[in-house]
Amino acid sequence: MIMNDMPLEQLLSETVKPEIYFRGLRYFRRGAVYDFSKTENFISAKVEGGYVRPYTVKIDITNNKAYCNCPFGFTEWCKHIVAVIIYFSNHKNLGNK
Ligand SMILES: [Zn+2]
Repeated sequence: MIMNDMPLEQLLSETVKPEIYFRGLRYFRRGAVYDFSKTENFISAKVEGGYVRPYTVKIDITNNKAYCNCPFGFTEWCKHIVAVIIYFSNHKNLGNK
């Protein structure tokens, strides 16, 4: 039962390459994340891509698994997933203040 609050952010820094992390951060900062929703076990959100179509990110919080429908989202955590996790963690921080 040690879990759920921290692991996503921790995993992020351990799993994702720095350049992907910073790209995700940039997406987050320019407000590319929208339609964010969270249930007890899942997060889902859309991220505006560099192209016309937005990408959909889903995160299974219980198992710390993340998916994105961009070409990289199946094999590794992509910048869209990073952006959504950063959004999520900022969201939590805002709620605590
Ligand atoms: Zn992606």
